[in-house]
Amino acid sequence: MSKKIQAIRGMNDCLPTESGLWQYVESSIRQVVASYGYQEIRTPIVESTDLFKRSIGEVTDIVEKEMYTFADRNSDSLTLRPEGTASVVRAGNEHGLLYNQQQRLWYMGQMFRHERPQKGRYRQFHQFGVEVFGLAGPDIDAEVILLCARLWEKFGISENVTLEINSLGSAEARVAYKELLVVFLKTRESELDEDSLRRLQSNPLRVLDSKNPQVQNVVKDAPKLIDCLDEESAIHFQGLCERLDSLGIQYRVNPALVRGLDYYNRSVFEWVTDSLGAQGTVCAGGRYDGLVEQLGGKATPGVGFAMGLERIVLMLQTLELDKNLESVVDIYVTAMDESVELYARQISETLRDTLPQIKVMNHCGGGNFKKQMKRADQSGASVALIIGQDEMAAQQVAVKYLREQQPQETVSINELTHFTQKLFNV
Ligand code: ATP
Ligand code: MG
Repeated sequence: MSKKIQAIRGMNDCLPTESGLWQYVESSIRQVVASYGYQEIRTPIVESTDLFKRSIGEVTDIVEKEMYTFADRNSDSLTLRPEGTASVVRAGNEHGLLYNQQQRLWYMGQMFRHERPQKGRYRQFHQFGVEVFGLAGPDIDAEVILLCARLWEKFGISENVTLEINSLGSAEARVAYKELLVVFLKTRESELDEDSLRRLQSNPLRVLDSKNPQVQNVVKDAPKLIDCLDEESAIHFQGLCERLDSLGIQYRVNPALVRGLDYYNRSVFEWVTDSLGAQGTVCAGGRYDGLVEQLGGKATPGVGFAMGLERIVLMLQTLELDKNLESVVDIYVTAMDESVELYARQISETLRDTLPQIKVMNHCGGGNFKKQMKRADQSGASVALIIGQDEMAAQQVAVKYLREQQPQETVSINELTHFTQKLFNV
């Protein structure tokens, strides 16, 4: 026997046992974004490496150590997208969707980061994200947060996530703050790790983002960006807080929240949970007013977020909220021998014509009554239609209830659609 080929480490198959839950998550998202009037955008999975370097920033975890970058056959440097925002801005600029316009967009799909795989952290993972362009005020920041809150409500996990917000101020305010921060960090240099010492030189704000507990201990004493905000950003942030208050959305201001990507300014936020252990951030986002221009477009404000779908799926499983998913099969149609196979098929096709929302599975592969009923049971269907020569002769089917103690019934084929409607309440 030849050696089995396995999937790449950190890249998961989604098996039929889980795909129902994934479809539920995805369709809930589609329904919620549609209810806010957002439109989908789809971009390629592969982009020029420069796109991510210029937007996410050279001195970030993603660009320094996580990207899947390779030379294609023409020696161009390409990268599997590690996130969605850069591609959406690139596409928006390329197709003239952004300048002087308002766009409320969303996307969903695979992202790739070469990280150490663990629960909630993979090398291929999925994000759903929202990007809004052409709106600069805190009203739209509140709207995208509200959209998340509606989704938590729909999933039944509102009690298990909390919102943290912060403001990064304007680019100028950050320059002034950076000086303060560097002065402070230099007084504690001996407590910093190698990464942080390097970042102290190249991009000091990134030190705030360190996951090393010893560095975090230094960071907690550092001056706070939120105390150094420019006036306009302070008013903007207050506007966001007031709107969240009046919408009844609870939040905590976390001055240490800086986000791991360079393009953010003003409002930033994360939804976190303690249901997942270390990988606690399920959704993260903020405002990126400079990004469109940075990628060659005309200045256009932007705000958005990205949600890690594996972490949402894990949460629903951990909290056992994945139990009431739709069935895969509602009706299992048997055929007791080959002479009734076509009759059984025709009945099933008629049901699919008249009631497309009902899931009908036909038995294939023959076998006796016992074998067919075993398959019917395994399918998860709530009823089996039993069809033999007697039923065909009488233009009937026998209905056997698989999940309830109810006597078998006989239904004429003219009545079957009506009967099924009543049975499934459709
Ligand atoms: P973390 O601090 O967990 O590494 P991040 O700041 O790198 O997160 P973002 O780039 O903001 O994450 O991505 C938004 C969301 O995408 C995260 O909050 C998380 O839910 C999800 N996510 C990020 N990286 C991964 C990954 N490797 N595997 C699964 N989900 C991920
Ligand atoms: Mg990360």
